Amino acid sequence: MSKRLFIRTYGCQMNVYDSDRMAESLAPHGWTRVESPEEADLVVLNTCHIREKAAEKVYSELGRLRRLREERTARGETMLLAVAGCVAQAEGEAMLERAPFLDLVVGPQAYHRLPELLARRARAEGTALATDFPVESKFDHLPERSGPSPVSAYLTVQEGCDKFCTFCVVPYTRGAEVSRPVAAILAEARQLLAGGAKELVLLGQNVNAYHGEGPDGRIWSLARLLEALAELDGVVRLRYTTSHPRDMSEDLIEAHGRIPQLAPYLHLPVQSGSDAVLEAMNRGYTAADYRRIVDRLRAVRPDIALSSDFIVGFPGEREADFEATMELVRAVGFAQAYSFKFSARPGTPAASMRGQVKEAVKAERLQRLQALLVEQARAFNEATVGRTVPVLIDGPGRHPGQLVGRTPWQQPVHLDGTGLQPGDLVIVTITGSHPHSLAGRRAAGATVEGRA
Ligand code: SF4
Repeated sequence: MSKRLFIRTYGCQMNVYDSDRMAESLAPHGWTRVESPEEADLVVLNTCHIREKAAEKVYSELGRLRRLREERTARGETMLLAVAGCVAQAEGEAMLERAPFLDLVVGPQAYHRLPELLARRARAEGTALATDFPVESKFDHLPERSGPSPVSAYLTVQEGCDKFCTFCVVPYTRGAEVSRPVAAILAEARQLLAGGAKELVLLGQNVNAYHGEGPDGRIWSLARLLEALAELDGVVRLRYTTSHPRDMSEDLIEAHGRIPQLAPYLHLPVQSGSDAVLEAMNRGYTAADYRRIVDRLRAVRPDIALSSDFIVGFPGEREADFEATMELVRAVGFAQAYSFKFSARPGTPAASMRGQVKEAVKAERLQRLQALLVEQARAFNEATVGRTVPVLIDGPGRHPGQLVGRTPWQQPVHLDGTGLQPGDLVIVTITGSHPHSLAGRRAAGATVEGRA
């Protein structure tokens, strides 16, 4: 009897990857994914702990799902409820106390055990809690990737974090940095490419801290791994996220000038432009260090596009500190960026730091920062108009007959889809720019690359 599975995914790309792997680990046991909890026999919330009140949002969603389950139970149906991801890891036992109606609470390092945990649950034996950091790697217990892959496929190569930034919960919810062996990554990459992927996006909480064991028994860096992935048949583009400035090694910077498939786009969170704030955040670099890395990157790959993360209103941030952030943004120039007001995470050092900034001040600073970042993103898109660039087609666009793809700098491009299909790499002339995307038309005589 086929069993219906619904997974709601919150947060980062790694949670998207984990949700796919959860579904793949359950598929051999008869579970198929459905689009809504109303039609599912098992509902999994794959949660994120980064944003404010993350846990409270999960509890209110659970309240709604509990009512849905009661309605369905009254109709003689069964609906299991599970919480996975970083809130499950952070809350653990407390979640079962607060929501005793849950069937399972499983952390990011234990979701490969879902089939076994569900089977034991069905036999009314065993615990509903799996938030340990098992010795064995979950990857060794997950099935091979199979079936069609998305054009741009996520591939986790590293997990966890040893940096302990004072505002962040990740080291507590994802554990210490662990790098997957090169052979396992290459095998999964081949499976994704065989399924039709053209771009591989390497994921890690600190992906550029990658130090996995190579087939030669040596420790490989991310640069060495990217080189090996670039040699695989069918790889059109490579990207990696999320990086830490402290781990931007010289060989990785040079890889941007050497590996043609490595996209000229890098997400490199800086968080602040003030050395005093960076120190209070325990980031381990200065604004000048960050700018030196940017200069090195632009020396080896002059057209590289940078995106970043910013936190405004960190405890102790004075107007001069904020101005230092604005100064860094003006000096670097970002194609894209994500910016947030500081919000205290329970249990993190920053939550109890002195000098908490008033909400009104945070909001006013965020507004100024975002106005500058939006202007830089607009100018970056505007500068692409009239250029002829390679675009990797991802899928359907906004309008019938239209497709959307991405430039090497991650800009979405909408164009007429005649004669094109997802996965094609085609030369496009950019004809217009919008706040978050571009318009284009296939360049005269442009051939299509990448078709099998
Ligand atoms: S490096 Fe990133 S994941 Fe690690 S503690 Fe800092 S913000 Fe969190």
